[in-house]
Amino acid sequence: MKAPKLLSIIVPCYNEEPALQLFYDAIQKVAPDLPTELEFIFVDDGSRDGTLQKIQQLHAQDPRVRFVSFSRNFGKEAALLAGLDHARGDVVVTMDADLQDPPALLPEMYQLIQTGDYDQVGTRRVTRKGEPPIRSFFARRFYRLINHMSKVELVDGARDYRMMTRPVVDALISMREYNRFSKGLFEFVGFRTKWLEYENIERAAGETKWSFWRLFAYAIEGICAFSTVPLVLAALLGVIFCLIAFIMVIVIIIRTLAFGDPVSGWPSLICVILLLGGLQLLALGIIGQYLAKTYLETKHRPVYIVRLTEDNAASIKPTTKSAVSAKSTPAKKTSPKA
Ligand code: UDP
Ligand code: MG
Repeated sequence: MKAPKLLSIIVPCYNEEPALQLFYDAIQKVAPDLPTELEFIFVDDGSRDGTLQKIQQLHAQDPRVRFVSFSRNFGKEAALLAGLDHARGDVVVTMDADLQDPPALLPEMYQLIQTGDYDQVGTRRVTRKGEPPIRSFFARRFYRLINHMSKVELVDGARDYRMMTRPVVDALISMREYNRFSKGLFEFVGFRTKWLEYENIERAAGETKWSFWRLFAYAIEGICAFSTVPLVLAALLGVIFCLIAFIMVIVIIIRTLAFGDPVSGWPSLICVILLLGGLQLLALGIIGQYLAKTYLETKHRPVYIVRLTEDNAASIKPTTKSAVSAKSTPAKKTSPKA
């Protein structure tokens, strides 16, 4: 492969003020080992702290720092898409701001891409050291479940720390779905992927943005986005109960004809009614989930709305928090490539 000219580093940031300088410095340290030009794309995902100001400060010091700032918090998935949309590099890497994705791996990833044998280099952590055990437990169950249910194979412990070539980026940004689940999308697009492994690293500064319930919702998102098995299960359950009911009707008719019809079995009847009622609601709920996702997709709303980028920032006074929040530019609709 021809030596790529530009490597774009995409960093989604939500309230990452304390981590940003550490991140930037850590990249500077490995930069000499990367035989290419660099650009940073910081995506401020509607942060409430001084993240945007910090990014603007970095931009003022270093013109290679570019940024996109959202009109509100749209979530990490939207931030990743915005980063991919704005990246100009022929090789692109996505990484978290908190240094949980070790920059020391960048030269190796880059070298692997340069060999031309791989289109993507993914990373996975082989331990979940430092993570609450309950979170690790449910994460493992989730990976097993989704891999059973979906054709797309998700790797346990896979991070969103990935280096990819331009064709992979173009494939990713061609998918404008509203309910995004990047871990699945990275696999869905295919290409030749090399996996690198490393031990879990704890956050350098700040705190995690993912509560248990946010992760739970994310898991449901992943299952709905990459599998329709729950719908099949709901239908299958319906078929099984129809069969049982059919057999019971025959049994009851024969029993009544043979032994008369003593009124009994009240409690069991109530149990059956409750069970069936519950199952029907469950099946409706599952269908509802898919319907809701379909509903959201059909609205074709943008995945994110940009308030500020380095290009239009010049017309807006930066530095103080209030100045930035008071003067908002008209929201620019996205999807430059859609
Ligand atoms: N993030 C984001 N928007 C959000 C939540 C998180 O852009 O709504 C970013 C966050 O700033 C960080 C990355 O996504 O760079 C991963 O988040 P975090 O470190 O909190 O997740 P964890 O590592 O705990 O899974
Ligand atoms: Mg983190």
